[in-house]
Amino acid sequence: MEPLTILGIIFLGIILFLTCGIAITGITLLLAVNKGHSRFQRLFMILAGFFESPLKTMAKLFRLDPKVIDNMIIEIENNLMRNDYMRTDYKDRLMIVPQCLRHPNCPARTSPNTIECIGCGLCSIKEIKKEAEELGYTFVISPGGTFSKRRIKEVKPKAVLGVACEFELREGLDACMEYGVPAQGIPLLKGGCVQTLVDWDKVRETMRAKI
Ligand code: SF4
Repeated sequence: MEPLTILGIIFLGIILFLTCGIAITGITLLLAVNKGHSRFQRLFMILAGFFESPLKTMAKLFRLDPKVIDNMIIEIENNLMRNDYMRTDYKDRLMIVPQCLRHPNCPARTSPNTIECIGCGLCSIKEIKKEAEELGYTFVISPGGTFSKRRIKEVKPKAVLGVACEFELREGLDACMEYGVPAQGIPLLKGGCVQTLVDWDKVRETMRAKI
């Protein structure tokens, strides 16, 4: 067989493999989100390890924001870890919120363990911190993903509740799944470096969730 023919067959094989992989991953994602069955969710998480990037590239070609896929994956990861998270005592949980939720004139200083909210009341963190700590949570305001991961290693919580942008939440939830620490992630409604927004009702509901 001619070398060019062999190359052509290999190329077509790769295209076929990728097309089938993306299609199966996309269908499994829709089934995982719509049906909510854990077996579809687990299957999707395995497929996503191979086909997440090509799936996002395909989504972009159809003018779909890849963040939609990130949000669906976050929902799946939350579902898979929810029961174990809810079984964990509040006192064994760590809650991490990003510094970008603070008011731009926040007077808090950064310490090695957190950004030290002084409860000035300029933003909603004052209230959520108070409620979380009354329940027993360890509460951290984080300047970034690396800081958050370090605090998880140091605090060694039995469960984590995190608020972050889709990118950092994906990293954090993936790490928690890998380390066997049940976590729940709540994506920001409006991202960016300052004056971001989150659904505080959803944060409260997840914070109080317990079985
Ligand atoms: S309530 Fe806390 S986090 Fe919010 S602006 Fe005041 S000191 Fe900063």
